[in-house]
Amino acid sequence: MDTTTSSRPALPATTGEGRRVHVISLGCPKNRVDSELMVGQLLSDDHVLVDDPAQAEIIVVNTCSFIQPATEESIDTVLEMAGYKHTGRCEKLVVTGCMVQRYGRSLEGELPEVDHFLGTGEEHRLLEVLRGRDGSGPKSHVDVPLYLPDELAPRVNSWSSCSAYLKISEGCDHRCAFCIIPTLRGRLRSRTIPSLVAEARQLAEQGVVELNLVSQDSTAYGKDLAGGGNIGALLQALSEVDGIEWLRLHYAYPHGLPAGLLEQLAGNPKVCRYLDIPLQHASGPVLKAMRRGVTREGQERILERIRRHVPEISVRTTFIVGFPGETDGDFEVLCDFVKQQRFDHVGVFPYHQEDGTPAADLPGQVPEDVKVARRDELMKIQRSISRKRMRSLVGTTARVLIEGVSEESELLLRGRTSTQAPDVDGQVYVANAPEGLRPGSFLDVRITKAADYDLVAEPVEPQS
Ligand code: SF4
Repeated sequence: MDTTTSSRPALPATTGEGRRVHVISLGCPKNRVDSELMVGQLLSDDHVLVDDPAQAEIIVVNTCSFIQPATEESIDTVLEMAGYKHTGRCEKLVVTGCMVQRYGRSLEGELPEVDHFLGTGEEHRLLEVLRGRDGSGPKSHVDVPLYLPDELAPRVNSWSSCSAYLKISEGCDHRCAFCIIPTLRGRLRSRTIPSLVAEARQLAEQGVVELNLVSQDSTAYGKDLAGGGNIGALLQALSEVDGIEWLRLHYAYPHGLPAGLLEQLAGNPKVCRYLDIPLQHASGPVLKAMRRGVTREGQERILERIRRHVPEISVRTTFIVGFPGETDGDFEVLCDFVKQQRFDHVGVFPYHQEDGTPAADLPGQVPEDVKVARRDELMKIQRSISRKRMRSLVGTTARVLIEGVSEESELLLRGRTSTQAPDVDGQVYVANAPEGLRPGSFLDVRITKAADYDLVAEPVEPQS
């Protein structure tokens, strides 16, 4: 994906003439889509992307500020890039995204080397501020985030040549007690179905065959649109785009299942039998304190309905451990829940006390070492569940999306099944693959070996 001289996650270089720009994208796939839209602006106006920040005349850092460690990484990255104003060719340093939205003008004093700060609702004005006369006008552009891009906003897919993220909405109307995102991203704003279909067509023309649908809450998709619209209708419309073969849904909220979703997951051949549904916890008192608006029983009913309608579904979820007031008993309830539900993929995160969130002021803050111990214990439980699940796949066949040559060995190709999302789930390493298979090809394979999260496979002999 990228070969930068800096260790920071930069967008890959482009060819051609123009002002040289280095763009770093921190945080989640939704932030990456924002970075790709900013690159779209730049490339449409005689700029080229460079890998080496030392060669760049303009450096853009799109920040994350979801939790304190992410904010610290953002500040470290900005300070590292500011160094290129002295040792490199950098004339303009632009900082955008969630950290700017969170801390606003207070950053001007902290980071004086930065020329422009753009909040999450102002990134579409990047070219405008770059064209502004030096020193004229405010350094910071931060307001209530209202902007929503459409298919006319140029975007450069930087994830991989065959897979892309599609951000279907922005913002969130929930108010989970531990979460700062509604403050950073604003109210729910859904893109229209025709606009998303048009963008999917553009991505398919670039060779993309897999779309990963992301948002803060994908099950709320369309609730804010005049005339409604829902995730079921969106999946149906996107599945009619030529060239798109796989649609994967991320960030469902366990508040009930919108009409049409189960039918799409069960019956649409292009919709992966996959659902990412962050649950965060399973103990009643903790879910209540988290203001999740759901109970353990409610979550169990939703999971049971999903599995009854889509028996082969692969479920990913995430949990927070160490939330204020979480007792040993609450944690035991969570461990039992994970053992009972046997999820395919699980992420576990220690709670972070974030200023500006209701939970930060709650009594019963849990010591760091206890949080880390609980995270490790829950991941240990999940690793053994995943190991058994992976081993049960040996001897079975699957369709794999080839993404390239394995980092492990050039004799192996790497890819994913439809039940493995990019970047967060395991991969399939394919041995003895036919010559000339390009990224974006699909290959039918037989699983020959299993590790805790990854699989090894060989092509299925074509039936004579
Ligand atoms: S659903 Fe909750 S955790 Fe997710 S972005 Fe919204 S407020 Fe945050």
